[in-house]
Amino acid sequence: MAKYKLEYIWLDGYTPVPNLRSKTQVKEFASFPNLEQLPMWGFDGSSTQQAEGRSSDCMLKPVAVFPDSTRKNGALVMCEVMMPDGTTPHPSNGRAAILDDPGAWFGFEQEYFLYQDGRPLGFPADGFPAPQGPYYCGVGYKAVGDIARQIVEEHLDLCLDAGINHEGINAEVAKGQWEFQIFGKGSKRCADEIWVARYILNRLCEKYGIDVEYHCKPLKGDWNGSGMHANFSTEYLREKGGKAYFEALMAAFGEHCEEHIAVYGPDNHLRLTGLHETQSIDKFSYGVADRGASVRVPHSFVKDNKYQGYLEDRRPNSQGDPYQIASRILKTISLVPKP
Ligand code: ADP
Ligand code: MN
Ligand code: MN
Ligand code: MN
Repeated sequence: MAKYKLEYIWLDGYTPVPNLRSKTQVKEFASFPNLEQLPMWGFDGSSTQQAEGRSSDCMLKPVAVFPDSTRKNGALVMCEVMMPDGTTPHPSNGRAAILDDPGAWFGFEQEYFLYQDGRPLGFPADGFPAPQGPYYCGVGYKAVGDIARQIVEEHLDLCLDAGINHEGINAEVAKGQWEFQIFGKGSKRCADEIWVARYILNRLCEKYGIDVEYHCKPLKGDWNGSGMHANFSTEYLREKGGKAYFEALMAAFGEHCEEHIAVYGPDNHLRLTGLHETQSIDKFSYGVADRGASVRVPHSFVKDNKYQGYLEDRRPNSQGDPYQIASRILKTISLVPKP
């Protein structure tokens, strides 16, 4: 038997964006525990905007477990928050009710800024660095500074160690801005991995005295905001597709534009302006290889007139909740009859 350090992670009750919280429980296991072996646990909801002080207990229900290579015998345990009865989801628990489909695949592109001393990493104390242009996928001290890449690489390794399905990383358009991509089958799986990857990044940055800024438009002026493009496909889109179905799907996306925007992250009007590779927040459009559209249709999708494969919804932002984003996409898809 060995003592395992189980880091129970949950989302608190703050709005519009929940914060990640976590605490450690030590338990003995013969080997790395699986989900079924992990007990429910509790916490003080009055400190996380999830309960009143007089009746403050909330429960933590493990829903996914990942190895934590930063600790000896460490595990990261993603949890849902439950009421004291242990079976009723807490009102703040948005994961419990989302739509899921193992045949639906998601690829989220999480953009974010690294921040130090109240400004993006690499910005001078006064004024601005050279304008955007050389930073995207840039290399060299002038483009990315001296510490950012170390953090980004460490984060990638920790996520891969955890079994998180990172598909890539890149420096982004603004100075101090980066991206990682996670691909997953099923909305819960992919979204759990995004939240745990965010957790790992926030925690990793502590020792550098750096914070992660997830806000979608932290800088005014001619600086890109941060998105979380949601690439998605269903079994039907991958195997059947077709122009008529695609057009019906896009019509449904257009019709439900407001419901999508409602869960695509706060303050998105600051980012979806029609500039900086975005469409305006109140318009819906799609286009092949069009990075100024709401939905970008990859070349591979329209190849040989098949209209098969995945689509990229470019509107979700960096602070969005991947549970809600994936669920809304599935909801709109479910409204469209398959020919
Ligand atoms: P870009 O920056 O050009 O928009 P990225 O390479 O950053 O593209 O992201 C593309 C994303 O598309 C990746 O996260 C990948 O996982 C995802 N993806 C690829 N194929 C599929 C698919 N069939 N279904 C869902 N997502 C997919
Ligand atoms: Mn990308
Ligand atoms: Mn990007
Ligand atoms: Mn993209």
